[in-house]
Amino acid sequence: MLRKCFALPLLTAVAMAQPMVVKTTTLIDGKGRVLRNQEITIEGGRIMRIADAKQKPTIDLSGLTVMPGWIDTHVHLGWYFNKEGRYDPGGPDSKTTPQQDALYSATNAYATLMGGFTTVQCLGQPIEGEIRGLVEAGALPGPRVLTSLRAVTETTGTPGEIRAYVDKMKTDGADVIKLFATASIRDGGKMTMTVDQINATCGEARKLGLRGVVHAHSSDAARAAIEAGCTSIEHGTFLDDATLQLIASRGAFFDPNFLVLHNYLDNKPKFLGIGNYTEEGFAYMEKALPLVADVLKRARKQHVKVVLGTDAVAGSHGRNAEEFVYRVKDGGDKPMDVLMSGTSVAAESLGMSDKIGVGQDRCAGGGHGGRPGGHRAKSTRRHHSRPPRGLRDEARQDLQEYAVTPAVDEMAASTLTSKGQVTIPQEIREALAASQGSAARLPRGHAGPVDCRATHAGRAEVEGVGSLFAEAAAVAC
Ligand SMILES: [Zn+2]
Repeated sequence: MLRKCFALPLLTAVAMAQPMVVKTTTLIDGKGRVLRNQEITIEGGRIMRIADAKQKPTIDLSGLTVMPGWIDTHVHLGWYFNKEGRYDPGGPDSKTTPQQDALYSATNAYATLMGGFTTVQCLGQPIEGEIRGLVEAGALPGPRVLTSLRAVTETTGTPGEIRAYVDKMKTDGADVIKLFATASIRDGGKMTMTVDQINATCGEARKLGLRGVVHAHSSDAARAAIEAGCTSIEHGTFLDDATLQLIASRGAFFDPNFLVLHNYLDNKPKFLGIGNYTEEGFAYMEKALPLVADVLKRARKQHVKVVLGTDAVAGSHGRNAEEFVYRVKDGGDKPMDVLMSGTSVAAESLGMSDKIGVGQDRCAGGGHGGRPGGHRAKSTRRHHSRPPRGLRDEARQDLQEYAVTPAVDEMAASTLTSKGQVTIPQEIREALAASQGSAARLPRGHAGPVDCRATHAGRAEVEGVGSLFAEAAAVAC
């Protein structure tokens, strides 16, 4: 049967651009469904159609698992290790020039994109606004950036001063308001802002139509922030069940993070001795790991909307996908649940469900909650955890843990090594390693994001990572 898909009149011009057909073997739609042997037709940078593969493909991704570009809801693109291999927070003792600072940040954006992430929420340094602008202009290869530019803390001032500060953030172009309602985990994570300060921050953000994203480890702070209308709790190491229930009942989001703690512990010598990166601080972080696993499991039980955020700091950029692995291995997440955290649920948390995070056929009514045809739904029920070809024996064993669906099994084949680490193809890794401390370079033999964007107005496709960086967008059919 022939189906016709009509774009909104406004979009007609872009929709008339030469269509691009991407052939897939396994397509994860970001909403929990697995589609087999489909082709994605992209016109003017928008997914117009997903149907049984029939046409000659422009891009043949047979054998790879394809899914919407991943979304990380919590990163810090401006954090890096300086020439001495140390974390460099800036300030008078900085070993880094402003020029180097900018290039390190650009490199981080590039590494994040090459790691499979097409949208990130940065929480919050001013340079994120510059990166956002350059990526939007097509001048810098990087993921789409949303930013808070700054953050509200207990020292921002009185409630009145906080409201003015939030207004200024909005005027300066912040997409979201970030607040620190508790101390760092390295300082014990206790509530630092008063309830009045939290009310002022979340209330003003809401008034301005901005989301309020809250650094909060403790229940009292998280509770106050959710009651004041903030929309997401970050970290949440010590949250009790009552607070998780409150988050769920308000439709707010929760973002527990493993990678940030592992990254600090893995790179301890590069941080130790700076600010609160003390032995005591590291001990707190080590103790937090099982607590994060526990709170994630409890959050799932309470049906909290969990998003994928890594709190990527120096050393984490480009490794963001390791958060998927930690959440499954340590946090007990089902692979498909964590993939949705990093696609459709993250998109919802950013208020961008109509643009990103979902690969679906706009013509078939998928955009309105419709289900794919019976023949496709059936394919999701096929369970065969055949070990992927070319994988070493110990890796196969690890993969059993992920082999919940054939698709995730295959994704695991392309993204997990025998140690359960995400692997980016060696060439890309080398290029990223070489780019540390200098301007980013495109990996040899791989299409770079700039070329790809020019051709299909999505982003890039990284072999082995298995993300199709083309974007879904709302089109009336
Ligand atoms: Zn953070």
